[in-house]
Amino acid sequence: MLGPPGGGKGTVAKRLQAEFNIPVISTGVILREAVDKKNKLGIEAENIMRKGGLVPDHIILEIIKERIKQEDCKNGYIFDGFPRNIEQANSLEKLNKELNEYVDYVFYFEIPFSEIIQRLSNRRVCKKCSINYNLLFNPSKKDSTCDICSGELYQREDDKEETIKNRLEVFAKQTIPLKNYYKEKKLLKVIDANLSENAFLAIKKVLRGMHK
Ligand code: ADP
Ligand code: ZN
Repeated sequence: MLGPPGGGKGTVAKRLQAEFNIPVISTGVILREAVDKKNKLGIEAENIMRKGGLVPDHIILEIIKERIKQEDCKNGYIFDGFPRNIEQANSLEKLNKELNEYVDYVFYFEIPFSEIIQRLSNRRVCKKCSINYNLLFNPSKKDSTCDICSGELYQREDDKEETIKNRLEVFAKQTIPLKNYYKEKKLLKVIDANLSENAFLAIKKVLRGMHK
């Protein structure tokens, strides 16, 4: 799944995971866990993430390689937030060749830029289960507590106003070119992501069709 920050990928990913029982691999979630644990990866990634830049490709590739080897990935998996630039997409292609795997679809979340800032600045995330809420559109029932797991809700360091602008620039420059890249490979499905419920249903339909 490709799309702008705040485009709803994480929310849709969680629903797809439950629906199809295949794991979502979110590089953003993995990186934030590492930052919390303050391990080697976390220490390397923290500053870059705080500023809204991209973590170096070789680090991301290591994460992906390790993750897809695991048992729960044997029937497939969904990437959320990877690949993020052409270099990563080329590396994925190479890796897939080595492993005799392939990409079925690339879903591009289309959403107006004007929506994004509002979504990001009001986003709150559960510390425990990483589910997203929005103070305006999708608040939790109890202030700063997750409805599902009672975990604590917090604002991501990179959802603060000064970082949002940079993330959008990085997205426009590095990630949008992937749209054409995957269009040429005939893998691209553009999804209207204005409502995440609709995005979920649209992707579900495509994936269900695949299994017929
Ligand atoms: P969003 O899509 O809302 O920006 P993510 O959770 O996907 O949030 O990513 C948060 C941050 O983690 C990014 O701004 C970047 O610093 C880092 N990151 C996540 N995925 C990648 C990736 N594939 N390549 C490089 N950096 C990444
Ligand atoms: Zn939770």
